[in-house]
Amino acid sequence: MLDRTYGEARSTMYASSNKEKFHRSGPPRSKQRIRRYNGLCGKLREAPDGRLISSKDVAPTMPRGSRDLYDEVEAYYRHNSAAARQILSTIARLSDEVRKGNAGRPVRIMNFCGTHEWTTTHYGIRSLIPKGVELISGPGCPVCVTPASYVDLCIKLSLEGVRVYTYGDAFKLPTTRRVKGARSLEEAKSLGGDVAVVYSFLDAMKDAKSSSKKGVFLGIGFETTMPSYSEPIDRKVVPKNLFLLSALRLTPPAATFALEKVGKVDGVIAPGHVSVITGASAWAAIADELHIPTVISGFEPIDVLISIAGLLRQMANGEHKVEIEYKRAVSWKGNERAMSTMHRVFETVDSAWRGIGIIPRSGLELREEHSAQDAKKEFGLAEEEADSWRDDLPKRCRCGEVTLGLIKPTECSLFLRACNPERPYGPCMVSSEGTCAVWARYGGGGLADRVAAEVGVNL
Ligand code: SF4
Ligand code: SF4
Repeated sequence: MLDRTYGEARSTMYASSNKEKFHRSGPPRSKQRIRRYNGLCGKLREAPDGRLISSKDVAPTMPRGSRDLYDEVEAYYRHNSAAARQILSTIARLSDEVRKGNAGRPVRIMNFCGTHEWTTTHYGIRSLIPKGVELISGPGCPVCVTPASYVDLCIKLSLEGVRVYTYGDAFKLPTTRRVKGARSLEEAKSLGGDVAVVYSFLDAMKDAKSSSKKGVFLGIGFETTMPSYSEPIDRKVVPKNLFLLSALRLTPPAATFALEKVGKVDGVIAPGHVSVITGASAWAAIADELHIPTVISGFEPIDVLISIAGLLRQMANGEHKVEIEYKRAVSWKGNERAMSTMHRVFETVDSAWRGIGIIPRSGLELREEHSAQDAKKEFGLAEEEADSWRDDLPKRCRCGEVTLGLIKPTECSLFLRACNPERPYGPCMVSSEGTCAVWARYGGGGLADRVAAEVGVNL
């Protein structure tokens, strides 16, 4: 199963069970049945031996469920093939130049955004670029790094009558032990817990306003989602019965931490949405102090390819600076108003990252003047300290190493065995931005690899 994507494996199973049904009932005979059959299963025609066969009875070249992905990737590359070819030839030329200068050592580029990892994997970018350029996934998913203790508290509260609001992404997030019989908010809800899946903090505010119950919002996110909390709290419009459990984390300190852990990294693809808020200046330390070329990228496959070319060009020229590829949204200063509101409402503290440990000045806590809204104070959750921190991953889950880019998801022995997107065992398999979930759904580029080759983008 490891050589196929999760989607492919499922659709093959589905297709063969339909086929079995057809063989059990035999070909349709009445006109009405034939019409219905034609609609559902493809047009019937007579075979030379007189049997009725369906046009869909011929084995498809691709499993049926993966056609969507195939069609989408194919359409993208067909539409953009000239641009893709041109950028890929620039990448090939620059990577030769860079590798000649560093004795053939592979060039390592790290991303810090779940959507960049999604684009890279979904569109098979790893298979398009030269073998000597390695793309590493870094800590880019806020759900993956939310400490288990936060989930424990939310499960417990939901089963004690407090309404817990969560984004859909975190609904299945597993903790390490059973709390009152549940390992996730999804299980807590099935046991009668009060869990509401919402799209935003605003939705939770609306609901809490019309309720007399106490409510807790599991506030997961990076800088991108932070204004959705800081603005209403600053304006004092949050209902008194709604408390924020801040699991907000800051990306640049985690990026620096990961870069120190993972060893030699030659270039950084910095997150686009985060930089809309923080501004490109937030990444200056990586370029100036760690001397690593950095490009802030958009999310289209072409954006990512241009960013790789930009990084290789800096390497070839011996430069290390912050460049903005995602110019249509990112400026050097960012959203100054959002940042100043954030600093008024939150203070920066050392924070725990699940499976990783405490990263200095990487989290946001509500300031004292807003403590009436603070779920940690209201319900008692002490922030972990460096000397008391314990690994909070389920047994044998290697999410910490995946998140820091030390291993690939396929190196975890549970990948697509005990852990898959339908039944996630570890946190990186839960959110659509989690590296393990992305690899499980899109197979690290295998399918896109074939599409790109067929379309002629692969050089
Ligand atoms: S919020 Fe945007 S920038 Fe941040 S990790 Fe998610 S997709 Fe990337
Ligand atoms: S495959 Fe599952 S268990 Fe393994 S590292 Fe990923 S999330 Fe953890």
